[in-house]
Amino acid sequence: MKKLRLILGDQLNIQHSWFKTVDANTIYVLMELRQESTYVTHHIQKIVAFFSAMEAFAETLKKLGHEVVYIYCDAPENSGELETELLKIIKSRNIDGFEYQLPDEYRLDKQLGDFCATLKIPSKACDTEHFFCRREELAQFFEGKKQYLMEFFYRMLRKRTGYLMQGAQPEGGIWNFDHENRKPIKERPNIPRPAHSKREVIPVLARIKQAQLPNFGTMPAGTFPWPVTRNEALDFLDHFVQHLLPDFGNFQDAMQEDEPYLYHSRLSFAMNVKLLHPAEVIERVIAAHKQNPERISLNQTEGFVRQILGWREYMRGIYWAQMPQYAHLNFFNAHRKLPAWFWDGNTQMNCLKQTINQSLDYAYAHHIQRLMVTGNFMLLAGIDPDEADRWYLGIYIDAIEWVEITNTRGMSQYADGGIVGSKPYCSSAAYISKMSNYCKNCRYDSKLKTEDNACPFNSLYWHFHLRNRDKLERNPRIGMMYKTWDKMLPQHQDALISKAESVLDKLNEL
Ligand code: FAD
Ligand code: SF4
Repeated sequence: MKKLRLILGDQLNIQHSWFKTVDANTIYVLMELRQESTYVTHHIQKIVAFFSAMEAFAETLKKLGHEVVYIYCDAPENSGELETELLKIIKSRNIDGFEYQLPDEYRLDKQLGDFCATLKIPSKACDTEHFFCRREELAQFFEGKKQYLMEFFYRMLRKRTGYLMQGAQPEGGIWNFDHENRKPIKERPNIPRPAHSKREVIPVLARIKQAQLPNFGTMPAGTFPWPVTRNEALDFLDHFVQHLLPDFGNFQDAMQEDEPYLYHSRLSFAMNVKLLHPAEVIERVIAAHKQNPERISLNQTEGFVRQILGWREYMRGIYWAQMPQYAHLNFFNAHRKLPAWFWDGNTQMNCLKQTINQSLDYAYAHHIQRLMVTGNFMLLAGIDPDEADRWYLGIYIDAIEWVEITNTRGMSQYADGGIVGSKPYCSSAAYISKMSNYCKNCRYDSKLKTEDNACPFNSLYWHFHLRNRDKLERNPRIGMMYKTWDKMLPQHQDALISKAESVLDKLNEL
């Protein structure tokens, strides 16, 4: 029996049981497909990272003795369509069995399911052996409950895995060290950078150009700054544990001009394409804490473990519990277009200018930049969540729908009406001013509300709450806001509303 096994671009898990033995009757296929490069316009570094990692993975498989078919994006015979390319191989290689690993994206899951239903040969879907939970586990865990609370899901996983546990109790006596984390940075830090990738990117760039794949953003001069092989990803992990983890939690929410990464791990791409298993990342971090608890304290360690064991697994669970309807939720009925400067960084609002330019240059922004700068602005300005999704899904190196849409539509835009978060994450300029040095070099004044040079966040913040009063007022975590508003003098209220309206009228000029 001749078997064809499909490996998608985010299934580069060399530890998968598929690869334990070499079988002369099994052919693996990896394809650089137009359909995957164009469902949104992607950042050039994202396309390069995916294609480089896939090509390197195919080389590793070949070295281990597996038979591999690799289809380049610029190959004249490559139709760019998944089904067409699979059918060609099935026919030309007399394949009599087809297998694939369960895709993480609903779109591909459906496409492959439909494809298999039309096949005349047997087909089989296998687990990716990557996550801690099965797809449907979150929905089962919260069955009958009003809300999916991340904290409970996370605690269940801490107990199940035994990570940072002492018997049935959390290490240190509490589950969550958030209150000890999240400090601003006072002075510019001196943070060492991990080594860049050693892979040559010129050939990948040449074939992306030849295939005319649309893209945006810039490529860095010189070497490529993202890990595209397992060894490079392991080097990134080592670098993180050695140099960044000791301060990770402390400065998790801090933002600094010209410091795109600070103490963040930059492991999301490597994990999302499965070069690294989340368990090995967590176990390495916990081992470093156990070895040297004075240097790598429990609060840094727990803060990091919660991101991966908690948020990452939780978001995936939400995705599978809520798709496909989740992709159309628009709780606030927001329909404004994204200002054009989101695509070129040309705005006078310094926090947005820094975050967007950094994203265009590095295909990266850390969590708080995504949530409290770009996301906060989109939410307060009433940008259509479809526009928000398109931007986030295209621009970030780690953007794959299951983890992008739940963060964007859910956590950041509250377009799901409270499935992911119990209240919208938003703030006026005060938060950005406290957590960053952006406001010091801004044309706008973070303390002013209605003057010509007042920070747009301040009036938009009130406008957002007022125009959505019927949807938010009964939320116990927000009710106070409306009490404060109602106590304000009418002339202050009028000035804030008219300022916000003038900001909304000229979003493209901010
Ligand atoms: P670190 O800060 O070092 O955190 C370590 C790891 O924890 C990350 O690599 C990631 O795997 C995990 N993690 C942290 N927060 C989250 C979270 N909220 N959800 C899921 N995993 C998390 N993450 C993506 O992987 N892909 C996306 O497309 C994506 N889009 C986002 C869009 C918005 C609007 C927001 C607010 C967040 C988004 N995130 C996304 C989550 C988070 O911002 C990134 O995982 C993180 O910035 C990646 O950088 P890092 O590896 O340096 O993370
Ligand atoms: Fe951003 Fe407002 Fe601060 Fe300027 S003043 S950096 S726009 S928060």
